[in-house]
Amino acid sequence: MIVKCAWMYHDIMDLYGDKGNIMTLTSRASQRGIDFQVTTVGIGQEADLSDFDLVFMGGGADKEQVALIPDLLSRKDNIRKAMDENTFFLLICGGYQLFGQYYETADREKIEGLKFADYYTATGKAKSRCIGNIIIDAPLDGINLRLIGFENHGGQTMNVAHPLGKVVHGYGNSFDGGYEGYYDGHILGTYLHGPLLPKNGQLADFVLTKAIQKRNPEFTFDMLAPIDQPWEGIARKALLDRWKLEDKAEVHNS
Ligand code: GLN
Repeated sequence: MIVKCAWMYHDIMDLYGDKGNIMTLTSRASQRGIDFQVTTVGIGQEADLSDFDLVFMGGGADKEQVALIPDLLSRKDNIRKAMDENTFFLLICGGYQLFGQYYETADREKIEGLKFADYYTATGKAKSRCIGNIIIDAPLDGINLRLIGFENHGGQTMNVAHPLGKVVHGYGNSFDGGYEGYYDGHILGTYLHGPLLPKNGQLADFVLTKAIQKRNPEFTFDMLAPIDQPWEGIARKALLDRWKLEDKAEVHNS
């Protein structure tokens, strides 16, 4: 089986080890005999995103977001086509922000977004940022996961119709909203860096499943054989122990 992944703006959108997400997907796929093929797509590079099963975009500073936005907007029709054809989108922080209505930089420059969702991201209070470790509980199509990450963003994302999860520790979409990220079945956007997937192996498998489903609609999450991950387990436990939390999501409706 082959999974084709487009890695958007790999050279400029890669904060806090976001590339680790690609490494994790490649490794977890290959352990199941799946050929995970990665194609990088930079500014000005021709690509038909609807050819891919998964599109990944990491986070970045305001400067990079301003630099790439004309290129991203020029791909809007192609991105819509990809979504209509069930390509899955995994977006981290700065990438997540740009799929909404708009993003307002720390200098209050308003950048138009792709508008694939109703959420928008406004500048927070001067010099205040949501920074630190974050833990959320995410009910993903009935699979309840406790996710661990690290966030560092000034932008405050509001009007999120379908949050990814409920904040257990940390901030999330805004300082006091209590919810984190966005998930609508086609797009998974989140502020979790760290990077996200090495710390959350089950989420990596969920993303793989969504990507596989483009060409194999009958494929389900439980068809991926479990992977022994002793080091990831130790890392998760060390973080969760800090806040005396179990490695088990509390079921809730977000
Ligand atoms: N520049 C954006 C912000 O500060 C995104 C940062 C990020 O990707 N970590 O809100």
